[in-house]
Parts: sequence; C-alpha cells; structure tokens
Amino acid sequence: DLSGRVALVTGSTSGMGEAIARAFARSGAIVALHGLGEAEAIGNLVDELHCLSGREVAYFDHDLTDAENGDRLVDEVIRKYGRLDILVNNAGIQHVSDIADFPPEAWKRVLAVDLSAAFFATRRAVAGMRKRGWGRIVNTASTLGLVAELHKAAYVSAKHGLIGLTRATALDTAEDGVTCNAICPGWVLTPLASRQLDAAAERLELSREETARDHFLLLQPTRRFVEVDEVAATALFLCSNAAASITGVALPVDGGQMII
Ligand code: NAD
Repeated sequence: DLSGRVALVTGSTSGMGEAIARAFARSGAIVALHGLGEAEAIGNLVDELHCLSGREVAYFDHDLTDAENGDRLVDEVIRKYGRLDILVNNAGIQHVSDIADFPPEAWKRVLAVDLSAAFFATRRAVAGMRKRGWGRIVNTASTLGLVAELHKAAYVSAKHGLIGLTRATALDTAEDGVTCNAICPGWVLTPLASRQLDAAAERLELSREETARDHFLLLQPTRRFVEVDEVAATALFLCSNAAASITGVALPVDGGQMII
C-alpha cells in the first residue's frame, strides 16, 4: 500500500512507465508523471491517474538527453510536494547499429537517457529519503543489462551501467531504510519494442507475427511478450514495506530468458 507516498516515474507517458504510474496511483500514491509525448494524450492520462488515486497528479516534461535534467526534475517534484519517497528511473531509448558505424551522437543520447539521467535523479533524491529513513529506488534496466545482443552497443553498455549504479546505490543507502533495485524485463510489446519489431520484420521480409514468434520470442521460453502490468506489479512489490530487505538486485521479469 503506497498511500500518501510521493512517487516519480520517469518515462511514464508510455509503455511500462505508464503501467507503473497506474499501479502506483491505484495503490494510493501521489504520482508525478514524466516523459515526452502529445499534450492531449498526456492530459487524458493525468485525468485518469487522478481518478484512480484521488490525488493530484502533476506532469513534468524534462528532456533527459540533457542528463542533468534528472536532477532538475527531482528538484521540481520535491519543490511541489515537499518530498520524494519513490523514484523509478524508467525512461529509456534504443539505437540499433553495428559497432563500427554506431553514431557517436546516438551513443551519447542513449547513455544520457538510459544511464546518466538516473544517476543525477538518484543523487538528488537520496538525501531526503535518508533523512526520513524510508525510500525506494527502482531502475528499469533490461535483460540487456545482464547479457548482450547484436547491434546494441550503447543500450547494452547503459543497461549494464544502470545495474552497476543500482548496486552501488543500494550499498551506499543500505543502513538508511532506502532500497535500490533493478528490474530486467525481457521483450515487452511497448512502442519501443514495436518499432524494433517493425524494422526487423521489414529486414527479414516476414510479417510482424512471424518475426515476433521466430525471432523475438525464440529466446523467451514463455514464448509470449511480458505484459506491462507484470512489470508494474514487480515495481509495486519492490516499493512496498514487505520488500525492505531486498536491495541491490537485478531481477529478471523475462519469461525465463536468462535461464537458457
Ligand atoms: P516506451 O518508448 O513506451 O516509453 C519510454 C518512455 O521514456 C516514454 O515515456 C518517453 O517519453 C520517455 N523518454 C524517451 N526519451 C526521453 C527523453 N529524452 N527525455 C525524457 N523522457 C524520455 O518504452 P518502454 O518499452 O516502456 O521502455 C521503458 C523502459 O524499459 C526503458 O528504460 C527501456 O529501455 C526498458 N526496457 C524495455 C523493454 C521492451 O521490450 N520494451 C525491455 C527491457 C527494458
């Protein structure tokens, strides 16, 4: 039960972040929504979350390609609500390219959004959590924080780094009532994955369904996409009081990908 907890979920205008924000709102949290996107869709989401939680829902649009905006974002949430109890570093982007011609700009962008922004946000959030003796930080990493995949140098590096940041933060805050954990999803059919599915289907000259079945889900033993709500339920558990002794883990929610 997250009643009255102030929770910021980065990248919550879409996909997994949106599902996490919904689950938190349903659990009574005061949710700070964040991400990019269309004003109308975001307005509707703000209204929906407000109905679910009965609490005010604020929206922030900091662009995390400037990673230090992670600090400014947390700062603004704290200024608005007086504190931040739960931080979910979930915003993320992908770039697919062979290492030899990986664009340096794409490397910088992916590292900024997927790793450095989480550092700046965490750094800013920890002081207040420590002072109150309670805090939860959840990082959306990936199975690609644990193993590599073809043509994803920046993403694999950033997600491995994010798991490192998770462990380091967990250690630094272990005596303070604060936990920091990473969730490592396998394939989840969000807009981020859907774009990759479209590109792969075109390259392989297959339908989306065939590409999903014979390529994306070949290494996901459940042979189905992970649902956003399954990831959200995991985040909700890690933010509960029951999970107080779980810290520094990188938890696969991947239909068994990491066991084969
Ligand atoms: P998504 O594209 O649906 O959502 C990404 C969110 O991040 C959006 O809210 C978007 O506005 C925000 N965002 C993107 N760039 C931003 C920027 N520059 N500044 C601020 N916000 C920005 O993707 P998703 O699949 O829900 O991804 C959520 C997280 O899960 C990401 O960290 C992603 O790497 C990770 N992940 C996804 C999968 C998958 O299969 N979809 C698997 C493992 C991990």
